[in-house]
Amino acid sequence: MSSNKQIKLSTYVETPPIDRGSMAGDGPFKATAEIQKNLGFPAEKVDNWQQVAIDKMAETKSKYRSVQVFLDACVKCGACTDKCHYYLGTADPKNMPVARQDLFRSVYRRHFTFAGKYFPKLVGAKDLDEDMLDDWYNYFHQCSQCRRCAVYCPSGIDTAEISMAAREVMNAIGVGQKYSNQILGKVNKIGNNLGMPEPALRDTLMDLEEEIKDDTGVDVKLPIDIKNSEVLMVSPSADFFAEPHIDGLIGYAKVFHESGVSWTLSSYASEAANFGMFIGSYDVMREGALRIRRAALDLNVKRVIVGECGHAWRVAYSFWNTLSGIGGGAEDEYALKLQKQLDSNYPQPQHMIEFTYDLIKSHQLSFDKSKNDHRVVTFHDSCNVARGSNMGDISNGQFILPREVIKAACNNFIDMPKNTIKSSTFCCGGGGGLLTDDLIDLRVKGAKPRMHALKKSEQESGVNTLAAICAICKSQFSKVLPHYDFDPYMVVSVHQLVSDAIILSENSEQKD
Ligand code: SF4
Ligand code: SF4
Repeated sequence: MSSNKQIKLSTYVETPPIDRGSMAGDGPFKATAEIQKNLGFPAEKVDNWQQVAIDKMAETKSKYRSVQVFLDACVKCGACTDKCHYYLGTADPKNMPVARQDLFRSVYRRHFTFAGKYFPKLVGAKDLDEDMLDDWYNYFHQCSQCRRCAVYCPSGIDTAEISMAAREVMNAIGVGQKYSNQILGKVNKIGNNLGMPEPALRDTLMDLEEEIKDDTGVDVKLPIDIKNSEVLMVSPSADFFAEPHIDGLIGYAKVFHESGVSWTLSSYASEAANFGMFIGSYDVMREGALRIRRAALDLNVKRVIVGECGHAWRVAYSFWNTLSGIGGGAEDEYALKLQKQLDSNYPQPQHMIEFTYDLIKSHQLSFDKSKNDHRVVTFHDSCNVARGSNMGDISNGQFILPREVIKAACNNFIDMPKNTIKSSTFCCGGGGGLLTDDLIDLRVKGAKPRMHALKKSEQESGVNTLAAICAICKSQFSKVLPHYDFDPYMVVSVHQLVSDAIILSENSEQKD
C-alpha cells in the first residue's frame, strides 16, 4: 500500500466477505544470527527443527496449563470469528482467531492426542512441515496479542497466549522476529528499547527542564539516578525521544513537582516496555524486570511507578510480583530485600495515572481546564491495560481512572461507541511486537475498526483529540491516522492534557 493512499471509512464496522490468502506471505523480517544469539536462541534454524519444535510445544503446554486448556476447549462455535481487528481489516480468514489458533492446534493434535496420531484427517491434525511453519511465522505475527477475541469466546480462550506460545517455539528452533528480538537485545545491553546511552538521556532531560522553564517560568526538575528518592519512575523510552510521548513525560514531571514527592528516573533501568511478553518468553521478560529491581534497590526508593505504556503496565501489574518481587511473590534474597524496602502503604507497583488520580481526588492539583478548550477529547483504551490489568484497586478502575484524569484537565470529553471501548476496545493495530515498518500494510489495515469508531466520533461530536496511555498506541496512531484522513498530531498522551492545564506552584517542597 502506498504510504499516501487514503482509505474511505463508513461510520460503522463492517464484517468483510472472506478474501482467502489476502495476507499470505513471508511475515516480518527475521532476526539475524547475531540478534538471536544475543538472547540465547539458536542463531539459525536448527537441523532437527521439527523435533525441537515438538519438544518445545510439550514443554510449553505443560508449563502454561492454560495453553493446553485453550487447545482442548474450542467447540468451533464461531463467536470469535469477527472480533479480531486484523480479520476485520484484512478479510483473510486465517486472521479469524479460531483459525489462527488452529494453526497451532492442528500440530498439537497430531503429536499430542490419540486421535490425531492415528486418524489425523478425522480431527484436523496436521504435521509441522515447512508450509505450516511458514503459516505460523506469518500469521502469528499478524496477532497483536490484544485478547479481544477472549472477551467474546464463551470458554474464554485467549488466542494471545497461543500466539505467545507459537513465537516461543519458533525462537527455540532459531526462527525469531527481527524487530522484537533486536529491541530486547538493546534493553539487555543498554537499558532501553531505543539503545539511548546514558549521556544522551541526561542531555534530553536537561533540555526538557530548560523547555519547561521557558514555557512556564517554573523550575520543574526531571531527576535521574538520585539515591533515596521516594519514587522510582519507570517510563517507556519513547517518552525520552519523540512527540507525542515526550509531552507526557513533561506532564509526569509537573505532577511530581506539584505533589512534593521526590522522584527519580534511572539510567540503568530506562525502559518500562518489556517485549519479552510479546515473544512469550518468561526468561527474557524476567531479565527486563530484574533491571528495574536492581535500580530500585540501588536507588533505595520506597515506591515504583510506571509511566504510560500499555503492555509495560500489564507486565508490571500481572507479572512483576513473581518475576522480581515488586509487589510480593518472588522469594529470592533480593526480592525479599526489596519487599522490606518498599513502602507497604502504597500499591507496588503503581501506575502514573493512579498517582495523578489520587492527587486530584485529594485536591492537591489545580487545573485551568480552559487551556484544553480547543480540544474535543476521546480516549483509546489500550488492550493490555483494558484486558490485562486494573488500576486504583476498584472494579474496572483501568477504565475509570484515565477518564477521570482527562476530565479533570479538559472540559470536552466524549467516549467512542460503546462496543469499541473498555473491555471491547479495538487494538490500535500495532501492538504485540508488530510496530515495525515491514508490517505497515498490516498495521494500517488492522487499525481500521478503531478508525471507524474515531470517524463516527469526529462526525457526530467533533472529536479532534485522541488520548492514549500506551507508547505503542501513540506511535501507531501517529503513523496510521493520515491513511484515514485524520491529523497525525491529534494523538496525545493523557499526561500531555494534564501538563497543558495544570497550574504550577512557583516552588514545590520536595519531601524526603
Ligand atoms: S488476540 Fe487480538 S489480534 Fe490476536 S487473534 Fe485475538 S483479537 Fe486478533
Ligand atoms: S469463540 Fe472460543 S470456542 Fe468459539 S470458535 Fe472461537 S475460540 Fe472456539
